[in-house]
Amino acid sequence: MNIRVGQGFDVHRFSDDPGRRLVLGGVLFEGEPGLEGHSDADAIAHAVTDALLGAAGLGDIGQLFPDTDPALAGADSLRLLEEAVRQVHEAGWRTGNVDCTVVLEAPKLAPRKAEIQRVLSEVVGAPVTVKGKRAERLGAIGRREGIACFAVAILFAVPDPSEPLGSDHP
Ligand code: MG
Repeated sequence: MNIRVGQGFDVHRFSDDPGRRLVLGGVLFEGEPGLEGHSDADAIAHAVTDALLGAAGLGDIGQLFPDTDPALAGADSLRLLEEAVRQVHEAGWRTGNVDCTVVLEAPKLAPRKAEIQRVLSEVVGAPVTVKGKRAERLGAIGRREGIACFAVAILFAVPDPSEPLGSDHP
């Protein structure tokens, strides 16, 4: 089989620490409460990373980047995603596209959506699309206790992984 699909999910609760910054899809939301986590708690970047790793059969983000690793405290999750993409490529896979659904009540994603898609697409090397969805006041996300993200990724095998990136995109 030369096409594989992967799914990713992540959730982070909002932090009580006023020093935490909100980063979603590599984009900083100035003045918004941050999420709790060992890294920068970028739930979108984490879900995308897991979707890609899952599709390639390379495990998950927790295996690759343990949250017990002091070197990863406050880590920029885009750099973690970058490393996952590198490993996926090394294993002989290229990304077709990634699609994400972010579940949140606030802040509004729409004004920053294009920017998030641009940043993630650049790191992944393929189109990444993002949709914002409210939880309609249901459950923890609906009570604005956190933000969740679902992602799916499709990969295709390349005959020669040493080929330059981009040359074989469909
Ligand atoms: Mg996470």
